[in-house]
Amino acid sequence: MALTWDRTHDWDGGAWRDRASCRSSDPDLFFPVGTTGSAREQIQAAKVICKACAVTAQCLEFAVMTNQESGIWGGMSEDERRKARARGIDVLVALKPKRRSLVGS
Ligand code: SF4
Repeated sequence: MALTWDRTHDWDGGAWRDRASCRSSDPDLFFPVGTTGSAREQIQAAKVICKACAVTAQCLEFAVMTNQESGIWGGMSEDERRKARARGIDVLVALKPKRRSLVGS
């Protein structure tokens, strides 16, 4: 049985990745080791970059739908995505208005 879902954009096309604010950032910021000390500072720095990113919704949708376990994606840490899932919250709901405006971009 094939998994299907309603994709809002072509993840594999790569176009959204070309518009990512993190393209010129230190990748270590987005994949810190741990959640305390300097890792906490890395997470906050990554989130600042995500906040200004034009493709936050695409990034978060990709991370959620492909079960990315590690790293900061779409402005959310792995712990935040995990906790949202555990509470049954669709982490994409919060971005829906932004995502809607980005559909087809
Ligand atoms: S939302 Fe954050 S991690 Fe995702 S592409 Fe944009 S800057 Fe990179």
